[in-house]
Amino acid sequence: MEFVYEASPQRVIFAAGARARVGEELGRLGVERAMVVTTPSQADVAAQFARLIGERAGIVYPGAQMHTPTNVTEAALTAVSSVKADGILAIGGGSAIGMSKAIALRTDLPQLVVPVTFAGSEMTPILGETERGEKVTQRSPKLLPETVIYDPELASGLPPHVAGPSAMNAIAHAVEALYARDGNPLVSAIAEEAIRTLAGALPRLLADRADMGAWSDALCGAWMAGSCLSSVGLGVHHKLCHTLGGMYDLNHAELHAVMLPYSAAFNREAAAQAMRRAARALGADDAPSALYELMLAAAPTHSLKEMGLTRAALEKAADLAAKDPYDNPRPVTRDGLIELLAAAHDGGRPHG
Ligand code: NAD
Repeated sequence: MEFVYEASPQRVIFAAGARARVGEELGRLGVERAMVVTTPSQADVAAQFARLIGERAGIVYPGAQMHTPTNVTEAALTAVSSVKADGILAIGGGSAIGMSKAIALRTDLPQLVVPVTFAGSEMTPILGETERGEKVTQRSPKLLPETVIYDPELASGLPPHVAGPSAMNAIAHAVEALYARDGNPLVSAIAEEAIRTLAGALPRLLADRADMGAWSDALCGAWMAGSCLSSVGLGVHHKLCHTLGGMYDLNHAELHAVMLPYSAAFNREAAAQAMRRAARALGADDAPSALYELMLAAAPTHSLKEMGLTRAALEKAADLAAKDPYDNPRPVTRDGLIELLAAAHDGGRPHG
């Protein structure tokens, strides 16, 4: 056994109703004029937070976009200077948190984030930014939010068609953490528990949106999965999702949900032990098949074809992804990527 592990210096608060502590936590960070960022559809929620923090609210900025386009960040930076913001409060999913991180990268302002999806970005020092259809991912300590407030009550407002794929997105982090070359026993234990918790909670919250226990479990699973993502490198699954998402502006979580069974099948033999752990967490014999069943239940689209991609589009993505592949248990070749993408395009049960 051999590994290097760095723990992330973060304060994490988890409780139903914990959003009420946002003002106090901003004070702890020394923030007096927060830029409150979110996506356009959540402008009302951000305005409620601004009322909650009163004088500490500098400006409400509901301009975040998926895949963090750099031109959107430039506009946000102008707003930061015009109100002389001294901190960022982000509410929402990975898109709102992405904008917060992109600002922090360029200004070093402290970040307090209140995640409502299961994407897990709040736990990572990672940012993927898009420019001219290419998504470039980087790591920096400046990106890691100082404080995270998880409030299952707030997250339970998420519509099922967003919550389902988002939970699959979180499971994808944990599956890839199980076979990461730079993994370690602590991360693997958390990853397995994250898969167990998310896969157990997902059917419950889809069946009954009022099941607060299910929301609480899913958000806790997302925290665990996000913390795995922050500690280890990513494999073929994330590489393909980043490439396709950046090139074709696809819904991030839906893409993860559709791709995950096929990425897992791609690595089924090369990462046999990791797949056994994933299967155990899913309560199944075969992880790719169990992930496929979960995807059918949780996601609104079930294939890349249904997401509107053509075979020609996939070839272009394979060309780009094969140029600079992430570390992966099974060696990545262009032909292998085409095979994986073709299976995800057709959408049948994944074969190994
Ligand atoms: P998202 O942030 O776009 O949110 C998904 C949907 O949830 C949106 O329609 C949004 O309006 C809605 N929503 C947000 N807050 C809500 C609320 N309070 N109530 C109801 N609905 C609400 O999507 P996402 O999947 O969470 O994040 C995707 C983005 O995050 C991508 O850009 C991806 O690259 C990035 N990401 C980054 C990391 C990382 O570590 N850097 C990890 C995961 C995802």
